[in-house]
Amino acid sequence: MTVTESLAQHVVDSLVAELAPVLGDEHVLTSKTARWNRARVPAPFPVHRWSERVPDLVVLPASTEEVAHVVRVANKYSVAIVPRDGGTGLTDGAVPERRGIVVDVKRMNQIHEIDLENGTCTVGVGINMLKLNEVLGKHGFIYPDDPASYPCSLIGGRIGTSGWSLVGSRYGHSRDLVLSFDMVLPTGETITVGDGGGQKLTKSSSGYQLKHLFMGHQGTLGIATRATLKLFPKPEAEFSPFWAFADYETAYRAVGALPRAGVATFAGAVLFDEWKVDYLRRDDEAYIPQPSSVKALVCAVAYGNEDEVRAGGRRLMRIARDLGARYLGDEISEGDWAARHDRYATPLHGRTRNGQVAPMSWHCEDAAINYTRLPAVRVAWHGILDRLRRDYDVFDDWGMFAYTSGNTGLDYLTEIDVGIWEQELDDRAWAAWVDAKREIAAVSLAHGGSISACHGSCREGEVDLVPEELGGAYEVMLKIKRALDPNNVMNPGKYGLDRAYRTEDS
Ligand SMILES: Cc1cc2nc3c(=O)[nH]c(=O)nc-3n(C[C@H](O)[C@H](O)[C@H](O)COP(=O)(O)OP(=O)(O)OC[C@H]3O[C@@H](n4cnc5c(N)ncnc54)[C@H](O)[C@@H]3O)c2cc1C
Repeated sequence: MTVTESLAQHVVDSLVAELAPVLGDEHVLTSKTARWNRARVPAPFPVHRWSERVPDLVVLPASTEEVAHVVRVANKYSVAIVPRDGGTGLTDGAVPERRGIVVDVKRMNQIHEIDLENGTCTVGVGINMLKLNEVLGKHGFIYPDDPASYPCSLIGGRIGTSGWSLVGSRYGHSRDLVLSFDMVLPTGETITVGDGGGQKLTKSSSGYQLKHLFMGHQGTLGIATRATLKLFPKPEAEFSPFWAFADYETAYRAVGALPRAGVATFAGAVLFDEWKVDYLRRDDEAYIPQPSSVKALVCAVAYGNEDEVRAGGRRLMRIARDLGARYLGDEISEGDWAARHDRYATPLHGRTRNGQVAPMSWHCEDAAINYTRLPAVRVAWHGILDRLRRDYDVFDDWGMFAYTSGNTGLDYLTEIDVGIWEQELDDRAWAAWVDAKREIAAVSLAHGGSISACHGSCREGEVDLVPEELGGAYEVMLKIKRALDPNNVMNPGKYGLDRAYRTEDS
């Protein structure tokens, strides 16, 4: 991969001279700390290469108009712009691969309106769900977009990634919950997208359904600035049973049967495989260890009114028990579910091949996989990691989850967690990891799945297979990118979209 040089000082000076009068001097940052603080995301990357992806400057706009000004200036100088919200995205979307200007939208964190009668609120994209729900809760409402990064990912990043929610089987995912938003296009014009022209509608058949185009594009088609969100009544009750199984096959049957039961308050079910159970027992101090006879775990969750959750919960318990599950008790059930909303608590260590503890960061490979393909994907993915671990002693297999994406058990967010000893990740080990990522993605496609249910698929390795996954639709993506971003300034380098600008002789 070619490394982009930093901008010449005189170009940085010109950008500052054009941006500071509009944004204010204190909101156009060129210091080393300001830039390096926004250089990376949690996904592991070789430490010796961090300096390759540091932006030239950072701006902190406070309004849609200020964002539009930044975008126009970037076009004038042909400089890359990268939208950044919480910086928790795991596919490098907010990483400034071509340096340029990072647009950090965290100052746009106001709640502009709460419409109690219609059940919506309108917010700046820099707010996070935790803060928002603190305010909404006082009115008896909840905004139920609930990723495991709940305390630190923000509304704009949820739009940029089209995020996946832990309770999506009950309330929908970001795409269902974000009703409309203002969007600064790559050339600086502003539009509002939603269902039709209304900002508070859940269904319109008027015109193209552009809302979905402008979600999940990883900042390559513009910057969302203000969003209107769908609210739900704050649930009275939560039920989150956790069960142990003696083998994977029975647990697999349970994770399929629970959503198929048609319980209206059902919000999700998760299957933890044997590798995951081993890892939790071995290295996650927050987990209450289970004996080695436990080979798989399943957790389910239900939300709603007290009487409905209680009745639905009894049915879920019966289904699991009939399949031979052992209920693990209230403490682990409630504790584990609470911990799912804040996975920054994952241990910061893993194991080398001989069991030595080593400092490791967490990486998550995710895919969307149909129920019937889960067992085969699991075997293939662990096989890939096993080979990688044999050749390079800087990786650890932290096991797999399969998590319902909808309320019928059709497809699952399927995830393998990998510990990576980042400081020891030399160029050879990184290249092997990129190959493994490509193989993991290839397995998902071979089983009729999608490379990502959750994070997006922009990282080295997986991104090579996106044209294969999308086929003719990828060609349409290239045309849209070129039409909306003629100067290729908006988060260039992501999703292989540079090929939209190739000429015959380039
Ligand atoms: C511990 C942990 C757990 C996680 N669990 C989940 C999970 O359960 N579900 C899930 O979906 N994800 C999960 N993630 C991944 C991540 O939190 C999500 O992808 C989240 O949506 C990113 O939000 P962010 O605000 O951090 O965005 P960022 O990382 O800042 O940005 C993400 C992408 O969106 C673009 N973007 C940012 N702001 C805007 C904007 N205003 N307009 C347009 N584009 C923009 C960026 O350029 C980038 O491409 C997890 C991550 C971590 C670290």
